[in-house]
Amino acid sequence: TKLRVGLLFGGRSGEHEVSISSARAIAKALSADTNASKYDILPFYIQKDGFWQAGEIAQQVLDSGAVYQSSVTSPNLWQFPPQTQEVDLWFPILHGPNGEDGTIQGLLSLMQVPFVGSGVLGSATGMDKIGMKIAFAQAGLPQVKYKAVTRAQIWSNPCVFPKLCDEIEAELGYPSFVKPANLGSSVGIAKVRSRQELEAALDNAASYDRRIIVEAGVVAREVECAVLGNDQPQASVIGEITYNSDFYDYETKYTQGLADLLIPAVLPEAIASQIQDMALKAFAAVDAAGLSRVDFFYVEATGEVLINEINTLPGFTATSMYPQLWAHSGISFPELVDKLIQLAIERDATAA
Ligand code: ADP
Ligand code: MG
Ligand code: MG
Repeated sequence: TKLRVGLLFGGRSGEHEVSISSARAIAKALSADTNASKYDILPFYIQKDGFWQAGEIAQQVLDSGAVYQSSVTSPNLWQFPPQTQEVDLWFPILHGPNGEDGTIQGLLSLMQVPFVGSGVLGSATGMDKIGMKIAFAQAGLPQVKYKAVTRAQIWSNPCVFPKLCDEIEAELGYPSFVKPANLGSSVGIAKVRSRQELEAALDNAASYDRRIIVEAGVVAREVECAVLGNDQPQASVIGEITYNSDFYDYETKYTQGLADLLIPAVLPEAIASQIQDMALKAFAAVDAAGLSRVDFFYVEATGEVLINEINTLPGFTATSMYPQLWAHSGISFPELVDKLIQLAIERDATAA
């Protein structure tokens, strides 16, 4: 009998549309010749308001790629469709808050069914840029200077705010990057070059998250490494992102033609293996499982490699960096999806 894979996509996140694209690519891979005899797909679509759709409506979103929102707002957003009971294994492909951050992973853990990717701790640590940086520092991974800030410091006390900005200026200088701690796809991120821009960016970031991080800006090439596995993970070849924008912002990420992926990145051999080594350390540092994409800054002028972040549920469309890196490392998209499912089963078997 076939394994019934609950493909969980959409989600209450700014990356809802990306999630639909990732799910479509994964569904296609599950239907490929090599996988079709092993797996059945049960689609579960989480609307932008958080309501779960299964069956025909979820299938329709998967087939069309179009966002769906039921006209009746259900009072019971937390009710799960009966098809939930039929799932043998979950494949959550939700990006950003409420999906990549440990919330869904907690729910799936309670369901006592294996699921693809990191558990609660790895997901939450990987999503929160402050927690992530603490874990990376503990693992000895070099990174940019940063300062953690709270919404309360920005909004609650008008006397605290100017002092906070003074400290940020003194510690990090300009340009710096202001980021909500728990988002992705560059949402809410600003590159700031003056006191005025810093103040505006902090205020804006506070509207997205209670936790905010400010980082010293670096001039560097952006390179990424894919990791696959559980306790003995493998690192892929390195890829590079190139673009002409000021930084890799939302528009650059999602507008066709504004950014290019170069795989493999043209790097000295020693730098490439250093990046792979750091990617594996980062994966372990946050307690990731299954998959992650680890992103770096390569400061060519000094030969320095700084870790930027880990993404525990990276973009997974046919053209996304994560599956492309594995394709260049000899693992096809359908094989990758199959391996992730096998890793989920393996991890479940060894779970506490
Ligand atoms: P997200 O999780 O939303 O992708 P990132 O921390 O990766 O957020 O930041 C998005 C982009 O902003 C990066 O890919 C890079 O282009 C730019 N950026 C972020 N932090 C810095 C920094 N400290 N120095 C230089 N560029 C940065
Ligand atoms: Mg990210
Ligand atoms: Mg990023």
